[in-house]
Amino acid sequence: MLPHDFVNTEETLDPQDWEAMRTLGHRMLDDMLDLLQTVRDRPIWQPLPDDVKARLHAPLPHKPQSPESIYEDFVRDVAQYPMGNIHPRFWGWVIGTGTPLGVLAEMLAATINPNMGGGEHAAVYVENQVIEWCKAMLDYAPDASGLLVSGGSMANLVGLTVARNVKAGYDIRAEGLQANERRFTVYTSEEAHSSIQRAVEMLGLGANALRKIPVNANLQIDIGALEAALAEDKAAGMQPICIVGNAGTVNTGAFDDLNALADICEREDIWFHADGAFGAMAALAPALRHLTAGMTRADSIAFDMHKWMYMPYEIGCTLVRNRKQHYDAFTLTPDYLAHGTRGAAAGDIWFSDYGIQLSRGFRALKAWMSIKEHGIDKYGRLIQQNVEQARYLAALVDAEPELERLAPVSLNIVCFRVRPPGMPDDSLNAFNEELLIRIHEAGLAVPSYTRLDGAYAIRVCITNHRSRREDFDLFVSETLRLGHELAAEYR
Ligand SMILES: *Cc1c(COP(=O)(O)O)cnc(C)c1O
Repeated sequence: MLPHDFVNTEETLDPQDWEAMRTLGHRMLDDMLDLLQTVRDRPIWQPLPDDVKARLHAPLPHKPQSPESIYEDFVRDVAQYPMGNIHPRFWGWVIGTGTPLGVLAEMLAATINPNMGGGEHAAVYVENQVIEWCKAMLDYAPDASGLLVSGGSMANLVGLTVARNVKAGYDIRAEGLQANERRFTVYTSEEAHSSIQRAVEMLGLGANALRKIPVNANLQIDIGALEAALAEDKAAGMQPICIVGNAGTVNTGAFDDLNALADICEREDIWFHADGAFGAMAALAPALRHLTAGMTRADSIAFDMHKWMYMPYEIGCTLVRNRKQHYDAFTLTPDYLAHGTRGAAAGDIWFSDYGIQLSRGFRALKAWMSIKEHGIDKYGRLIQQNVEQARYLAALVDAEPELERLAPVSLNIVCFRVRPPGMPDDSLNAFNEELLIRIHEAGLAVPSYTRLDGAYAIRVCITNHRSRREDFDLFVSETLRLGHELAAEYR
């Protein structure tokens, strides 16, 4: 029994005034749903004013500030200057849009706040169920293991780690690379994403061990050149361990001939990893599924759900065909983490045995709720819609003499440039570079850019469930108008 005059002197981070917190929470929720509902009416992007930047350099706070005024700071200094990717005309890089229920799911996940390293609690079952659904939607091996990760880069690193450990041929976890007599090599196309090279570097293989094989006219890996490189490396005493196939390249959305890569890997006893960061999702759309043919033969697949499944950041996934190989690559269980058979430390699967993170967030919840909300068929329709929008934009570009398309449209990416009449070729790169900045600064749209064969290309990548055809009409007409303005300055 506590004495009746007991005063609790211990502090907590919970609010003293729960009612005020509740009122603030309701206001935030209303504001954020309003923001999403009206996003089309606001500028997609605007530069940060200097006073905002100055406030965002303020020093470490020592004294408390009320949640209400912190929220005002957020509204004034953060929410007004968005990246733009929640807007219907954001088509930069490969960036997803987010959804309202995804927002709410993040709040629910943070509320129950489980540590998803493992244990016996419902959230672990939710992540397992999401992984089962991922396998089903890609038609991948039913016995495969999986792990939700921060995104495609981490998903590639996890897959390539398993690849290296399995194909090394000795206990590389114990002996490290130092014990290897031969040099390991990894193969992918020139069009592969930079995260593949980063993974190869982090695995200690060195960037030079990554053979970047040339591509054909459709920007797919040149199978003949790959065979030649393999033969040459083997003759020189190298040990090829992995081929990374692209299921949707970042530049143009090209798919390698994944069946041909799977055949080579089988024949040569090489690990086959598929980087399907966004392109794997083509498997959800019946009319696009053929593009991913052969992907289900991969030993591991990496993909994102924050790109072409439109979920809020961060969420990606690695699937590994052989659960034991996946587990063996990462499991490390000191006494203080020993898994139990009963109580809260039980649980068949500890995700910490399948990846690099020990403490992990409940990113599974937004996937679980989103997939239930829409059903997987609707994702297929939206992906198809984005591909049709890319074809629509390509047709607009092709119909316009002052626009020049620079790559085939394999999927959802259109690369083009503006070519004003009479402008010399060697001015086109600088012209289009400046034009893209003006497109951003005008708050019109946010495409990004790439270089194709040395040509600066405006690159529109559509992983946006809010875009409509009228957005592309406006984008083309306004791009032409801004292009004319800029061309006039050149004269
Ligand atoms: C985006 C992307 C990645 C990296 O994924 P993140 O989620 O950004 O880490 C890897 N590969 C391809 C093809 C991508 O498009």
